[in-house]
Amino acid sequence: MATSAPAGRRAAVVVNPSKRTDVDIRALTAQVFREEGWEEPLWLETTVEDPGHGQARKALEEQVDLVIAAGGDGTVRCVAAELAGTDTPMGLLPLGTGNLLARNLDIGVDDPAQAVRAALTGTERRIDVVHVTVDEAVDSDIFLVMAGLGYDAGMMADTRDELKDRIGWLAYVDAGIRNLPGKPVRTTISIDGGKPIQRRLRSVMGGNCGKITGGLEIFPGARIDDGLLDILTLAPKGRLGWIGVVAGLLRRGKGKGTAVEYFQCKRAEVWADSPLEFEMDGDHLGEATHILFEMDPNALRIRMPYGKKDPAVLTNPEP
Ligand SMILES: [Mg+2]
Repeated sequence: MATSAPAGRRAAVVVNPSKRTDVDIRALTAQVFREEGWEEPLWLETTVEDPGHGQARKALEEQVDLVIAAGGDGTVRCVAAELAGTDTPMGLLPLGTGNLLARNLDIGVDDPAQAVRAALTGTERRIDVVHVTVDEAVDSDIFLVMAGLGYDAGMMADTRDELKDRIGWLAYVDAGIRNLPGKPVRTTISIDGGKPIQRRLRSVMGGNCGKITGGLEIFPGARIDDGLLDILTLAPKGRLGWIGVVAGLLRRGKGKGTAVEYFQCKRAEVWADSPLEFEMDGDHLGEATHILFEMDPNALRIRMPYGKKDPAVLTNPEP
């Protein structure tokens, strides 16, 4: 209610202007801000050259009380990279398709007014962030949902944009089927600095939460606030090897064979003998031969709607 809201609260909205919406999202946002007694938001649009990092840094310089990432998982990831480790909370205004983080946290993906209201007045929880260093780069990057080296990333790269706009996540399934044939790559994995494991893999995925889309749980038991990184490896053998992978996924990695393996850890390192496509939260980031994943527990404050959360996502579903 406007009367009980603290006066002079300021927020920045980092918005991806390329996401088409049925309503005037800026006017709608301003309306909810007024209703909740917040000042007019600082409106910062992303560009192809700077998809959110610079805008989030600007918001932090302005010492706002909250930064809302308005866009898809890519915008959320760039804003979160700057907010992680600070005390400034992030809200989400999901636009476009995908929005996996929002879906995991029960933030409305088709009700923008409700999403903005949850960002301004909702409960605040801390979630884990996974730092990723690609090919021993100086700067690390982060992801919130999942990252993939190999098949999964090739699938993201191959997903046709126009199809993605039309049918959303089904487009990824279409790309997945077209990507099925291909050669595995000799890969070495070290989990928490342990003895290196060698496998001929099609894909290594790192997960921070379990739900991927339409109820599909790629990382069973993964939670976004448990301080653990989930790793999934896919190693089909031979022409019909994907049958073994599907069977392994259905058995959730239990049983004989190494077609599907799951690991939980705080740190994982992957070396591939030849370059593989790499993807984080749906953003295709080119090829890589070395990836270092490092868990940063409870590094990000997130605003989400009040109410019980899915115990498959948060360790403590009731705040
Ligand atoms: Mg976890």
